[in-house]
Amino acid sequence: MLGGGQLARMMVPPAVALGVHLRVLADTPDDSAAQVATTVLGAAADVDAVLAAADGAAVVTFDHEHVPGDVLAALEATGMAVRPGPAALHHAQDKLQMRRALTDLGLPVPSWAEVADLDALRAFAAEHGGRAVLKTPRGGYDGKGVLVVGASGGAPDPEDRWQTAASWFDRAAGSPLLAEEVVPFVRELAVLVARSPSGQVAIWPVAQTLQVDGVCREVVAPAPGLDDDLAGEAATTAATIAGALDVTGVMAVEGFEVAVPGRAPRFVVNELAMRPHNSGHWTIDGSVTSQFEQHLRAVLDLPLGDVRARAPWTVMVNVLGGEHPDLYHSYLHVMAHDPGVKVHLYGKSVRPGRKIGHVTVHGDDLDDLLERARHAADYICGTITS
Ligand code: ADP
Repeated sequence: MLGGGQLARMMVPPAVALGVHLRVLADTPDDSAAQVATTVLGAAADVDAVLAAADGAAVVTFDHEHVPGDVLAALEATGMAVRPGPAALHHAQDKLQMRRALTDLGLPVPSWAEVADLDALRAFAAEHGGRAVLKTPRGGYDGKGVLVVGASGGAPDPEDRWQTAASWFDRAAGSPLLAEEVVPFVRELAVLVARSPSGQVAIWPVAQTLQVDGVCREVVAPAPGLDDDLAGEAATTAATIAGALDVTGVMAVEGFEVAVPGRAPRFVVNELAMRPHNSGHWTIDGSVTSQFEQHLRAVLDLPLGDVRARAPWTVMVNVLGGEHPDLYHSYLHVMAHDPGVKVHLYGKSVRPGRKIGHVTVHGDDLDDLLERARHAADYICGTITS
């Protein structure tokens, strides 16, 4: 697995259970997965390091999408099975490429355009109610590389946003950026799908996700009160994308639920991640087959596992770094306070806002689960003390 972050780390327990020898390529011995897995040290952008890490492997897969195309090509040239393949992965690496492909497939996406300078962005915003979302096509994550510009709620334009946009165009040095309409969504949804090289597909119940400042905060599965037709449409959309782009492994399709006056709500695709994803962490404790086990099964072309939920509701809340570097005491408190909470920590040093773990609870009473999961996460972070 290329990349030694928390996704690689969470792949280790199912690899042990399945009898799969997982080796990770990590930047440093302190990386989240390097602490717990057989590790080759090196950068995912270093072709020699990648080839050394992959040597003798049955299949190569990814903890993140930021592996350069030339490295992927060198890997494929050795005859190595790379899953998802570089052609599929390209759509998760480049948001413009992703928007083009989804548009060609006739799938619902926000209205979008390639914009090469501030004038083009202003023109796009003017056609879309005076606002736009500007995105860097490559390298963004957790809302980094996403900027909303334009008038908000009748307030005057915050000029500094336009200045930030101008600096992004300068940095892009002529390469186009992605402009999108600001989608007036009711809520955000995520569909997690797994597809194997044989073409078997499994789709977990559609989840509701909450992002705060571009960072995933909370996931509820299944999405409460989701219209049956919308759930079906979202699942079909995910299956269509997985098949059309020849995705192997787990893919998260993040999208928006959009209300349409007088008609059924719609699912609009925002983003693709071709790997296990934060919106699927609930599956570790809440589904018969976790996204991490399923990713291994899929990339190894094994039969896929049952994706049904273990309980009517599962709530996952991310633990973000706070002011207290020592998590131990709050961790003890949470375990003692609520034995039903499952705590997952990633072995990462604490920095404010950094994803350092998550908690999960599942059961019958959604309000109770939300309260317990939020309390546990907030307590571990140190944002509450009782
Ligand atoms: P990242 O790759 O950094 O996760 P995303 O494209 O997923 O970036 O955007 C991060 C968040 O920004 C989304 O989860 C959503 O809350 C908001 N967002 C992104 N695009 C739009 C849009 N077109 N309209 C409204 N909100 C958006």
